[in-house]
Amino acid sequence: MAKVYYNNEINEQDLQGKKIAVLGYGSQGHAHATNLKESGFDVVVGIRPGKSYDQAVEDGHEVYSVKEASAQADIIMILLPDERQTEVYENEVKSELTEGKSLVFAHGFNVHFSQIVPPSNVDVFLVAPKGPGHLVRRTYQEGAGVPALFAIYQDASGKARETALAYAKGIGSARAGVLETTFQEETETDLFGEQAVLCGGTTALVKAGFETLVEAGYQPEVAYFECLHELKLIVDLMYEDGLAGMRYSISDTAQWGDFVSGPRVVDADTKGRMKDILDDIQTGKFAKGWLLENQLNRPEFNAINQRESEHLIEKVGKELRDMMPFVKAGKKKADKEVVA
Ligand code: NDP
Ligand code: MG
Ligand code: MG
Repeated sequence: MAKVYYNNEINEQDLQGKKIAVLGYGSQGHAHATNLKESGFDVVVGIRPGKSYDQAVEDGHEVYSVKEASAQADIIMILLPDERQTEVYENEVKSELTEGKSLVFAHGFNVHFSQIVPPSNVDVFLVAPKGPGHLVRRTYQEGAGVPALFAIYQDASGKARETALAYAKGIGSARAGVLETTFQEETETDLFGEQAVLCGGTTALVKAGFETLVEAGYQPEVAYFECLHELKLIVDLMYEDGLAGMRYSISDTAQWGDFVSGPRVVDADTKGRMKDILDDIQTGKFAKGWLLENQLNRPEFNAINQRESEHLIEKVGKELRDMMPFVKAGKKKADKEVVA
């Protein structure tokens, strides 16, 4: 079994007295900066002028440009969108990344795929919460936390592991459990998880179920409740008690249907295609395609996004959710909550 670290075995001394620059104030950025500050660490935010900048100021942070924040910090945490990190790193971070500092990520993408090549005289590590940024913040406020992975890419100081663990404790993740990994494992499993299961797999499953019912003549509202709304309730049970715990709560009829029909939906062919997806991630084909798509200003991304937003499930869902204000009650005013 893998070693899992918790609060009581982590000493935050190696992070105390150091200045942490959180670059970016989006989903992860706002959570890391605010949690670390409330945990007693010295935090500044580095961000371009705009919506995030204003939010960071409103939340009471010391806010600078990316370059100014990087210049004064010992620990530089990059929480910018993956596809923008290389450009910002080259123009505003690299010159400030002097010997003895730490360069930190929440996802290994750019280091693993050689988009960012750090100098050898700095520590390089990642602390990657396994959950959306807004939950990293919300659970911290509730006295809980989102589990995280950490990985050391380069240990110039000889203290990178201690610093990474202290950082994970500072954002609240060591309340839930922190696990050591490598940049390669974090990057490849994170991309696979979000593509095959969490985001891609789930949205495709929900849509296919919804469409099957609607095309068979059932009411879209019934199909929405059945295939999307109720998914959260089922997943909550899995989250609390695993697959068996969920199956304990459902009827035996549902459980029998689960056993006989689940494998008809996700069969050996599906698993074979999951393996193809994993191959594209491992060979760098997916990363190359995504970087290229960004260089071309996202023609396909934007077209698919537009088409998806016009799907009947979105129209029906919005009307039904407007009648259930409690569904949104847990969500902060923040506009975005991405599991990525
Ligand atoms: P977001 O898209 O939510 O936020 C990005 C932030 O970067 C925004 O504050 C944005 O500001 C700012 N920004 C964008 N471009 C620039 C620029 N050129 N110069 C300065 N600031 C800029 O990112 P995420 O939090 O989703 O992702 C950050 C990292 O965390 C990524 O590596 C991601 O893989 C990782 N991660 C994300 C998870 C998540 O839950 N979202 C989960 C685990 C890891 P503005 O408002 O001005 O655009
Ligand atoms: Mg992820
Ligand atoms: Mg991700």
